[in-house]
Amino acid sequence: MENNDFINERNKLLSELDSYNMDDIVNYCKKYNINIPDDEKVMLAGLHKARLYIINPIITDKMKENSKIWLLEHGFNASIDEHYHCLICEKPYPTKQDADICFKNHNEKEHLRWVAREVVWMKSYMYDLMKYISFIDKKYKIDD
Ligand SMILES: [Zn+2]
Repeated sequence: MENNDFINERNKLLSELDSYNMDDIVNYCKKYNINIPDDEKVMLAGLHKARLYIINPIITDKMKENSKIWLLEHGFNASIDEHYHCLICEKPYPTKQDADICFKNHNEKEHLRWVAREVVWMKSYMYDLMKYISFIDKKYKIDD
């Protein structure tokens, strides 16, 4: 199943992020039509953030901890509760309003690339989430 391939490869890539190989990351993105940010650091930040969100046993607490450290060391916001950074360029801002101004000031190409990237991650995140929800539904016979 194509979706499973995508999930498995994504999990493998995220689990090996600590010893990342830029060629592997670029090949993965090309294979699944994920738009690659021009800045390598922004791209890695996106992957580390994805790893923080993933709820799959293959991604350990230790890996999530490493991602937090990586994000902080490279000047990114490692908190998934705070969103005071531009969603496109990840620049930090003191207020949400300032971050939104930066977001809105990006050009059409940047906006469209951001949407494409988010849709791919959202899809894979939802896929994992639905698997766990469906497990609970079955276990407690919520859904018959
Ligand atoms: Zn920005």
